Amino acid sequence: MAEFSFELDDDQKAVRDWIHGFAADVMRPAAAEWDEREETPWPIIQEAAKIGLYSLDFYAQQYFDPTGLGIPMTMEELFWGDAGIALSIVGTGLAAVGVLANGTEEQIGTWIPQMYGDADDVKVAAFCSSEPDAGSDVGSMRTRAVYDEAKDEWVLNGTKTWATNGGIANVHVVVAVVDPDLGSKGHASFIVPPGTPGLSQGQKFKKHGIRASHTAEVVLDQVRVPGSCLLGGKEKLDERLARARERAKSGGERLKNAAMATFEASRPAVGAMAVGTARAAYEVALDYAKTRQQFGRPIIDNQGVAFQLADMRTRIDAARLMVWRASWMAVNGRPFESAEGSMSKLFASETAKQVTAQAVQILGGNGFTREYPVERMHRDAAIYTIFEGTSEIQRLVIARTLSGVQIR
Ligand SMILES: Cc1cc2nc3c(=O)[nH]c(=O)nc-3n(C[C@H](O)[C@H](O)[C@H](O)COP(=O)(O)OP(=O)(O)OC[C@H]3O[C@@H](n4cnc5c(N)ncnc54)[C@H](O)[C@@H]3O)c2cc1C
Repeated sequence: MAEFSFELDDDQKAVRDWIHGFAADVMRPAAAEWDEREETPWPIIQEAAKIGLYSLDFYAQQYFDPTGLGIPMTMEELFWGDAGIALSIVGTGLAAVGVLANGTEEQIGTWIPQMYGDADDVKVAAFCSSEPDAGSDVGSMRTRAVYDEAKDEWVLNGTKTWATNGGIANVHVVVAVVDPDLGSKGHASFIVPPGTPGLSQGQKFKKHGIRASHTAEVVLDQVRVPGSCLLGGKEKLDERLARARERAKSGGERLKNAAMATFEASRPAVGAMAVGTARAAYEVALDYAKTRQQFGRPIIDNQGVAFQLADMRTRIDAARLMVWRASWMAVNGRPFESAEGSMSKLFASETAKQVTAQAVQILGGNGFTREYPVERMHRDAAIYTIFEGTSEIQRLVIARTLSGVQIR
């Protein structure tokens, strides 16, 4: 087990500085343009691919960093650059992790490379779980997967919503119901390979923030995928369903939800994104407060402004520490006995919302315009308290974990 340290080693510092350079030199100058265009910034993903920053190898290296700090450090720097563009770069990772977590070695080796493509022909991937009637309540999912034994194929029907890269992805990972009697225990994940007939993009959403990231509905109409596209394989699924049916029949103890454990491990990454946006807004506000003169002195001379900056920085540092702790726990297989992953996401995302709002206030009228980046950062920050589980759902998970009571 890696010792926990707050000190990045020399290799990590070099990687962090390299990502920071890309964020400062390539992402920052393009951020306002892609926010206005509300389109996937393909040329920037391509540039990231050319230097190896958008690649399976790079993310695998960060994902398996035994200190746990590889992913949060990467997320913080990219989202410091720009949240919308950064999500376009890291969105594929959500689908890749879905395959890593549930797929066989063969599935991992076949599909994850196709999610990224290569530097000359970049691709993206989408993870499709949410539905119009199943957001926080994943147990209400309706998309159905039915096995056609004669052809060894699965047939998928339903509508997914809010899918990052939905419809423009080369590979879609789709969560569907295989046994409606088992609620969320009756779900399974499927690969929908490139060009599969029946999968189409529905509405593309016009959003409040992270507008450079593509978010859309995905419609599945008689989508047929080979049996080999069921993540983990049929045998494992049948065993899992049999166990769940047995437990449901005996009314025995609740299954320790594997999906919840996965969320605890993945939520700190979203917390790190929020830390990146919060830090970016804080830095703009600090510079502005030191240079903007009113009443014959810089506005930071007023405690009312300076104390806000002190609070902003304190919260950002506290959020980062919570994120790093949870990421270290995830990589080292520590049990999340107090839902530390959810705690880190809750605190960091609320911090980003609060800090970006304070930054807008410190910039006064300028903060309210698109001439200054804090306006965009404030819009972007709103997503962190919504996706990968809303703040209310994080509180629910934390409260249930701490109390053992099924709080509703
Ligand atoms: C930009 C964007 C990108 C996304 N990307 C993806 C993606 O790639 N793949 C994917 O599958 N999904 C994605 N999502 C979906 C996201 O995870 C959901 O929006 C989120 O889980 C919330 O679901 P909902 O929007 O249906 O809200 P709802 O579940 O309808 O919640 C509405 C409100 O009610 C509150 N609420 C609900 N239940 C409770 C409760 N029990 N107690 C207290 N409060 C409650 C919520 O906290 C929220 O404030 C994305 C969403 C957005 C906006």
